[in-house]
Amino acid sequence: ESKRTGKNQIKEFEEESRQQILRTVEIEKALAQALDRSEFSLVYQPKVSLTQNRLEGVEALLRWHHPVLGHVGPDEFIPIAENTGLIHQIGTWVLRESCLAWVRWQKTGVKPFTLSVNVSPLQFAREDFVDTLQATLDATGMDPMFLELEVTESSMLSYEQSTREKLAQLHQFGIMISLDDFGTGYSSFRQLRELPVQVLKIDRSFIVNLFTDRNQEAIVRSMIQLGHNLGMKVLMEGVETSDQLEWLLNEQCDYVQGYYFSRPLREKEVVKHVKSVTTYIEFGKTRA
Ligand code: C2E
Ligand code: MG
Ligand code: MG
Ligand code: MG
Repeated sequence: ESKRTGKNQIKEFEEESRQQILRTVEIEKALAQALDRSEFSLVYQPKVSLTQNRLEGVEALLRWHHPVLGHVGPDEFIPIAENTGLIHQIGTWVLRESCLAWVRWQKTGVKPFTLSVNVSPLQFAREDFVDTLQATLDATGMDPMFLELEVTESSMLSYEQSTREKLAQLHQFGIMISLDDFGTGYSSFRQLRELPVQVLKIDRSFIVNLFTDRNQEAIVRSMIQLGHNLGMKVLMEGVETSDQLEWLLNEQCDYVQGYYFSRPLREKEVVKHVKSVTTYIEFGKTRA
């Protein structure tokens, strides 16, 4: 009986992985044409400064709509794009399109805010990364002082001479670096100490059980303090409730992002948002 269940489970597992492989192959094929067919778009999620109670900037997030597959999320297709090497073209497109959007926002007369762009470790690792970036800045008219790159810990893992040099060059341009998905990677305390990043972005997974587990509060509190003690600012992503916001205000978190404030917005909606929302926190409500 149990043997039989075991066999069935293996069969199910095999069927599942077969389906998985088929889907991956399908996405690989579709991705190869996605740029030419203009299937990508960008949305922008506000980042809120808690200390200044205003918009700090927006993060560009990639969206893909395929005529047959429908919407495919970046968590699914970015790893595939990385495996096939397409990430370089896609990443360059994201950077260029988001910089162009930023320049258009500026033309509407709004007060300038930061543009954050996610950069894959593979993109960052390429030798011509800084040159490509420079070319994009020149071509679009993006002001590097308002550009922030979000890199993950794994980009920094091989924190060798070339990474060091790249970060120094970016710093010279006036570009900021934030460490995305912080807490999920493998960076050691020593690496953290040496990293020239300005912002720690604590991964959303850390806020999900903030109040269901006492230890979780202690961990997130320590992460915020660690960032501050290293001279960095700290951003919490995935903020969805006023309780979470209140807790973060109390813990002196610098920036927040999440559905509580805003979902990712289309380019035009960003201008509406900037013009209509002038304050994010009602202090009477959230602070004792
Ligand atoms: P990320 O950079 O950590 O982005 C945060 C993700 O959390 C986004 O998902 C965002 O839509 C989602 N999110 C924001 N606030 C909330 C919230 O309050 N609740 C919940 N449940 N989710 C929230 P998205 O857009 O699906 O992106 C997933 C990941 O894909 C990103 O994680 C990033 O690693 C990657 N990605 C997205 N766009 C790009 C891109 O242009 N280039 C690269 N290399 N990676 C990208
Ligand atoms: Mg990000
Ligand atoms: Mg993140
Ligand atoms: Mg993430």
